[in-house]
Amino acid sequence: MNLNVKEIFYSLQGEGGRQGEASIFIRLAGCNLHCSFCDTDHGEGSEMELTAILSYIRPFPAKWIVWTGGEPSLQLNNEVLSFFRKEGYLQAIESNGTRPLPELLDYRVISPKGANPAYAKALNPRAEEVRLPVKKGDPLPPVELLPQASCYFLSPVFEEQEAKTRENILYCVACIKEHPHWRLSLQMHKLIGIE
Ligand code: SF4
Repeated sequence: MNLNVKEIFYSLQGEGGRQGEASIFIRLAGCNLHCSFCDTDHGEGSEMELTAILSYIRPFPAKWIVWTGGEPSLQLNNEVLSFFRKEGYLQAIESNGTRPLPELLDYRVISPKGANPAYAKALNPRAEEVRLPVKKGDPLPPVELLPQASCYFLSPVFEEQEAKTRENILYCVACIKEHPHWRLSLQMHKLIGIE
């Protein structure tokens, strides 16, 4: 079985509830959305056999795989997850919530984009984490409309202009003070300059 892989790299989880944990990131090519703030190159990848992916990641000592994209659920299924589970890996996903996720995931991050949080909940009623990218002035969806999760994060969008990033951060801080079920998630990897 093959996956269309954009890149594989070993780093620390930069944001959310697993922030700081060593993880193997497998970025799958392709996305079904076109977000204006997207800073990820998820086009055109290379076909890789699951066994080739396994050989590539085996030297990394961490046991967490983070499936990311693009939208990784366009390619992931239980057969793929089962293959890596049998090899002893724990598997997380970073999904935009527009598709039902396969069951064999150990940690689901749903990051609804645009105006579809209720749609995300209908497809995936539960997740370990909901994380929203937020720019200054963005309206926040009521938490009841989102998938039920152990933690809810606001992630200020990092912009090219530092002053704009700062505005987004301060906006998130103000929102969280008003609605304390949210927590702040800063993209640590960008702050400390790692992949
Ligand atoms: S869902 Fe994520 S990867 Fe896809 S376009 Fe939006 S920000 Fe980019």
